[in-house]
Amino acid sequence: MARKLPPKDVVIVGLGWTGAILAHELTEAGLDVVAIERGPWRDTATDFNIGYAPDELRYSVRRDLFLQPAQETLTMRNTSSQTALPMRDFGSFLPGTGVGGAGTHWNGHTWRFFPSDFNLKSHLTERYGAARIANLTIEDWGLSYDELESSYDRFEYLAGISGKAGNIQGKLQDGGNPFEGVRQREYPLPAMQMSYAPTLFAEGARSIGFHPFPTPSANLSKAYVNPLGIAMGQCTACGFCERFGCANYSKASAHTTILPVLMRKPNFEARCSSEVLHVNLDATRKMAKSVTYVDASGEEWEQPADLVLLCAYGLHNARLMMLSGIGKVYDPSTGEGTVGRNYCYQTNAGVQLFFDDKNFNPFIASGALGQTVDDFNGDAFDHGSVDFVGGAGINCIPTNGRPIGYRPVPPGTPRWGSAWKKATAENYLSVLGFSSQGSSYATRGNYLDLDPTYTDRFGRPLMRMTFDFPDNDIRMSHWVSDRMEEIGKALKPRQMVSSRRQKSWNSVPYQSTHNTGGAIMGTDPKKSAVNRYLQSWDVPNVFVIGASAFPQNAGKNPTGTVGALAFWAADAIRDKYLRNPGALVSA
Ligand SMILES: Cc1cc2nc3c(=O)[nH]c(=O)nc-3n(C[C@H](O)[C@H](O)[C@H](O)COP(=O)(O)OP(=O)(O)OC[C@H]3O[C@@H](n4cnc5c(N)ncnc54)[C@H](O)[C@@H]3O)c2cc1C
Ligand code: SF4
Repeated sequence: MARKLPPKDVVIVGLGWTGAILAHELTEAGLDVVAIERGPWRDTATDFNIGYAPDELRYSVRRDLFLQPAQETLTMRNTSSQTALPMRDFGSFLPGTGVGGAGTHWNGHTWRFFPSDFNLKSHLTERYGAARIANLTIEDWGLSYDELESSYDRFEYLAGISGKAGNIQGKLQDGGNPFEGVRQREYPLPAMQMSYAPTLFAEGARSIGFHPFPTPSANLSKAYVNPLGIAMGQCTACGFCERFGCANYSKASAHTTILPVLMRKPNFEARCSSEVLHVNLDATRKMAKSVTYVDASGEEWEQPADLVLLCAYGLHNARLMMLSGIGKVYDPSTGEGTVGRNYCYQTNAGVQLFFDDKNFNPFIASGALGQTVDDFNGDAFDHGSVDFVGGAGINCIPTNGRPIGYRPVPPGTPRWGSAWKKATAENYLSVLGFSSQGSSYATRGNYLDLDPTYTDRFGRPLMRMTFDFPDNDIRMSHWVSDRMEEIGKALKPRQMVSSRRQKSWNSVPYQSTHNTGGAIMGTDPKKSAVNRYLQSWDVPNVFVIGASAFPQNAGKNPTGTVGALAFWAADAIRDKYLRNPGALVSA
């Protein structure tokens, strides 16, 4: 039996990027806020100390900062005709845990989506006709890019993003992304100083008429003091970034941008190593009254609150809704139900170029130091003559030359022994890699629900993921691979190896922790789980914040948009909900 605690104004589930933003904004509005975080407390000086932060075995191979499957996993299958089995080792994606969430060990590519991504269904229907998207269940967001622009700006200035704007107030800027939406001002910091590999990639891309520009990065190009007064250091391009905490206060995360201010507030409390089991609804099932959680000693607690904010990462947000009976679970056989609908991922492919005469010094790297080509992303190009919708950014962002993980050798090389060692030594310095990060568009058969067989350590059903790459996305990815090979040829390598995206989705090799959908936003409560303010249609004192809200995924990393949505939802709660609690949009 759970012991009941004194009520709070707001309970936040999860203290990663979104939880920290919401907590800061709502404590500023004078509310009494508690965040309940499943994983441990972490801070830079203690947990990412330079003495051990670059421990590749501990953090990259053994994944010390990540969620372990024994704590929570999910079952997976490619189609609903298969039996799903539990993922006993996370591979394809690596959810975070602990204060800071996955934002602790992310790379830091910090994108805005294109304006047309937000009204995708209407845009594509208008431009190419309804038949082109007949097999997809893509939707409009119910929110436009222009409405979200100032929230993007706030996230970028909070995080100290380093980049070069491409379009300020409608005026194209030299050196930036010519295809991006209109922004009101420049990035807070200049683009990072480029290393050799992205510089050469950009030269090759430019030589065949493409438009490369510096990737917007949350690894800081300069020392910076953010609007909360928190100081951060310049990135040293140490190469131990993705999968690692930053010892240098140079990677934007909740730790480096919000927590030093938030933790000092008397109206904020963080309870760590405490896992929320479910949200409790009142007798009407239309209001949340509390959450139940288990602390590190196994004791169960009930935390009452006026507002419940799910900030647990997209996948976990959807599962918590299902476990709590918030909204109707999606059923692909009828197309009815909203929670679990439109699960999407990311459609990636890669190219490696082997040279004889180049030295890229691959150990000079960071999570997001690189160059991007967006000519084939979103609606930057005309889809009139191709057989797909969507697109991909092409990124040359060499993240590391680490001794265990970075061993580029040509196909056919033995996988161990003296020949492998020789090939490693010959190629270590002279390989240039780049990849496409493609959109992932929703279909009726890709979704999340609760597994009928497998349960977690608390006896709750695991979440079941049914996903495969849609044919549309495979065609898109192959077409973009053709473009990548054109760049590769322009650089005249000794050998080019192109790894094209193939069916079926396999949960073993790492691909991307960009899981989206499951509690999507929209204008129709029959097709979306939350409204344009990320408020549950069914239980209006529950807001669900994260990539769970994306109706489909763009050819870009999600967190810039996730951060912007967090600010957008916080504004809606403060300026609209608190003045008049209840549904902010009438169904
Ligand atoms: C290796 C890696 C690289 C990445 N690189 C990029 C990148 O370059 N660019 C980009 O845009 N994105 C990147 N991402 C994705 C990015 O990290 C996420 O989009 C972002 O962290 C999402 O923020 P969030 O607040 O929704 O979730 P998180 O930051 O994951 O925070 C959610 C928190 O909720 C907690 N939680 C979950 N369930 C419960 C529960 N039941 N009770 C209590 N607490 C709970 C979790 O422990 C976690 O701390 C990367 C991710 C990984 C893993
Ligand atoms: S590459 Fe830069 S931002 Fe990343 S961990 Fe190293 S110093 Fe920090």
